[in-house]
Amino acid sequence: MNDKVRGIVIKQIDYKDNDAIITVYTGEYDRISLYVRGYKKITSRNVYATQIFDESDFLFDYNPVSKFQTLKTASLVNEHKGIKGDYDRLAIASLICEIADSVYGEQGYEDLKGALDLLDETDEPYTVLNLFLAQALRAAGLGVNVDGCSLCGKTEGIVALSVEDGGFICSDCNLHLHRPVNEAEYLRKIRIINKADFSVAGKIMKLGLNSFQITRDLMSFLTSYLDADFRSYRSLVSLNG
Ligand SMILES: [Zn+2]
Repeated sequence: MNDKVRGIVIKQIDYKDNDAIITVYTGEYDRISLYVRGYKKITSRNVYATQIFDESDFLFDYNPVSKFQTLKTASLVNEHKGIKGDYDRLAIASLICEIADSVYGEQGYEDLKGALDLLDETDEPYTVLNLFLAQALRAAGLGVNVDGCSLCGKTEGIVALSVEDGGFICSDCNLHLHRPVNEAEYLRKIRIINKADFSVAGKIMKLGLNSFQITRDLMSFLTSYLDADFRSYRSLVSLNG
């Protein structure tokens, strides 16, 4: 039986001489692996719809017991051209896809699509990444506590964001913890990004959230709890070094 599904290519691994296995993130089947014959042949009619970051319609024969499905045809919906032409956006999109491959949430596909569509046209690429990171943390059950002090629950006198404690810390608790303190303005930004989602993405632009410092902090939460090493994060760090 033929199945047609819309999805976004998040990973590609070369296979044999001319073939490849791509990972496609879909709303319907979660993540699927598709075997693409003739991936490296420029004459292959599927070549333009199976590149990383491509959103396409994929037609394949679904075999529930197989590790990967054989792609029949793919037709391009959105190639996210704006991402591919800019080094920062390319590194950010790579990191987003890498995280999407390891953290899966209920809103997983919508968040991934929301992030790449926005990244394609925005002049605030780090705001998009930070918003995606906040969603990924929530999906992984690691949402940053920005509602009050992570230790005593107090909502007044918040002075620090602490990875070790899972979120905000108040001045009383910090008397013995001695976590490095943050400016109130920075903590306000951390709260906004962690309260937002892609449905309100338009409203959080121009608020100073296009910041790699926020990315660093959210990545610290993600990597300390997941104990994962995201390869594309390293290129982003050197870009901002
Ligand atoms: Zn406290």
